[in-house]
Amino acid sequence: MKFTLPELNYAYDALSPHVDSKTMHEHHDFHHKAYVDNLNTFVEEAGRRDESLVEILAKTIHDSSICENTRHGLINNGGGHYNHSFFWHIMCEESCAKEMQGPPEPLSGMIASAFGSMDNFKKEFNSSAFKVFGSGWAWLVYDASSKKLEITTTPNQDTPFSHNREKLPVMCLDVWEHAYYLQYKHDRKKYTECWWNVVDWKSISCLFDKYAHKGKIVNVNADGTID
Ligand code: MN
Repeated sequence: MKFTLPELNYAYDALSPHVDSKTMHEHHDFHHKAYVDNLNTFVEEAGRRDESLVEILAKTIHDSSICENTRHGLINNGGGHYNHSFFWHIMCEESCAKEMQGPPEPLSGMIASAFGSMDNFKKEFNSSAFKVFGSGWAWLVYDASSKKLEITTTPNQDTPFSHNREKLPVMCLDVWEHAYYLQYKHDRKKYTECWWNVVDWKSISCLFDKYAHKGKIVNVNADGTID
């Protein structure tokens, strides 16, 4: 399987002023592209051409049968492709984000019951995102066993389900410096606060209903599209 870079579903400046066009170009055209290119190299090297992205990520982290370098290459670059494709998919321009004002049911009720309120959820999510040491991601996940929503973080380009198959992704926020440094400099806190203005609750809720809530991992296709 050849992995390819997905096109954004919106213009590079669509998320402006919260995420500017320069950041989007750098992030998508160079950072995400590099993960895709490297992933193809490592997949060839490992002879894993027939596996889907989710299969690679779910199987590789504890697989001691492949050499360390290839294993890290698959996890880092496979995660880079998965996480960024997911991230682009759950953002939209501010006018569209505002129309929604939050997720519809059942997700909204589940967020309220897990975190007390939407505002409290955002506060806890931001606080977790802020505390990621170095590079990584903040996630809302659905635990398939407890059937509850949780906030978690992952280092580097790890995905929650690589470590634990029960942790099903619902939404994610990139807190690598490359996601905000051009625009916000060191101020990750301000970036995480502004980011909520471009969160696409409609997409998140559709994915939740189709995947996590049914006990499934969101499927990112080889070309980075999600359906
Ligand atoms: Mn990134």
